[in-house]
Amino acid sequence: MVFVVLFVGAGASLKGQNVHNLGGLSSAGVSARSLSLGGKKAKLEQRRVPAVSATIAAREVVQSSVDIPKLAEELDSASPLEIMDKALSMFGDDIAIAFSGAEDVALIEYAHLTGRPFRVFSLETGRLNPETYRLFDEVEKRYNIRIQYMFPDATEVEELVRTKGLFSFYEDGHQECCRVRKVRPLRRALKGLKAWITGQRKDQSPGTRASVPVVQVDPAFEGLDGGPGSLVKWNPLSNVSGTAVWSFLRTMDVPVNALHSQGYVSIGCEPCTRAVLPGQHEREGRWWWEDAKAKECGLHKGNIDSLTEPQSALGEKVEAADLFTGENVKTFARGDMEALAKGENREKSSIVVLYAPWCSFSQAMNDSYNTFADKLAGSKVVVGKFNADGAEKSFAKENLQLQSYPTVLFFPKNSSQIIKYPSENREVDALLGFVEALQ
Ligand code: SF4
Repeated sequence: MVFVVLFVGAGASLKGQNVHNLGGLSSAGVSARSLSLGGKKAKLEQRRVPAVSATIAAREVVQSSVDIPKLAEELDSASPLEIMDKALSMFGDDIAIAFSGAEDVALIEYAHLTGRPFRVFSLETGRLNPETYRLFDEVEKRYNIRIQYMFPDATEVEELVRTKGLFSFYEDGHQECCRVRKVRPLRRALKGLKAWITGQRKDQSPGTRASVPVVQVDPAFEGLDGGPGSLVKWNPLSNVSGTAVWSFLRTMDVPVNALHSQGYVSIGCEPCTRAVLPGQHEREGRWWWEDAKAKECGLHKGNIDSLTEPQSALGEKVEAADLFTGENVKTFARGDMEALAKGENREKSSIVVLYAPWCSFSQAMNDSYNTFADKLAGSKVVVGKFNADGAEKSFAKENLQLQSYPTVLFFPKNSSQIIKYPSENREVDALLGFVEALQ
């Protein structure tokens, strides 16, 4: 796609400051006049990084046609500094860095190193950690800039919180809250720009960011001119590893979010971010409860009736092969399960998986459950299965705590208790550990 870039004259820079002409991000904007540091200026000056000596060329009005995919190819092996310089030189006042308050502070350091004026905005969701706010402040002082904070619409936030509470995202997913607090303010910010700069890297999320180009026509948002293709997205860190970003931050002595020293890697809003353990991927620290639920079929509010079974193109039900057919897995019928649910037939303990043959997560535990049954063969525990799909679904939901497939239940001997296996880890050792703990 060919993107037309119109270079305009240099923005109204403030004396001694890198921030200039914030008019593009018009909503909730900070006027140039409000950027005066007044009497604190002398004190702050000592903490600022020295100005980079590169000459800031006065920009001219230039009409240019740019083939963005071709440009991405050309810049694919360029350094983040070269990419940043290219981005700022091409778009001038019409581009801004999106700063989340995490290690993407590297973008600001790179922008500073180009010696060009640059703009920074951030989404002030109202739910950030105190450490993030402190970093914002530190960054503003170090680089002598004002970050353009984009706030959510107050009426929308009030409506969300009054009707659903402060933590609705734990119940029905993060999308609604993110839409109000992040996506709409972001859309508003981008409508005042022709390009933006993000800290996205390929190694951040193998599932969704594996092919982030260094520059692209934004596939999701519109820019100043409106319509598809009206916004360019720069990702100068795309090809850089997280390790290399950290090496750069340390070398340049860039201020970082204090949460990083507490095990946080990817940092977002406070309720939706947590530290990760060694070996865990950084994205496991974000919206972790949804990742866990994604390991089951049919979720959110336990609404098993909303399960969608696979259908053919003609809308017919697709029959899936039965599961857990190992010789040591006993098949339980409805009568057996009714008795167990009442505390009857408990001469031995039993562990039973409730499943649907078409459920991919039930299918995924097929081998481990068969092996688990082999290991317990001849023991005091019966390993069984109950097909809780179709006509058995409502019975299982009412009597066997079924909320999603697969559900694993333990029925201790001589008891009426039903103990639900609480973990998504359905490996053999984890299942054996569960049984051992209850013996
Ligand atoms: S990250 Fe969490 S708190 Fe922040 S906007 Fe999204 S759902 Fe809301």
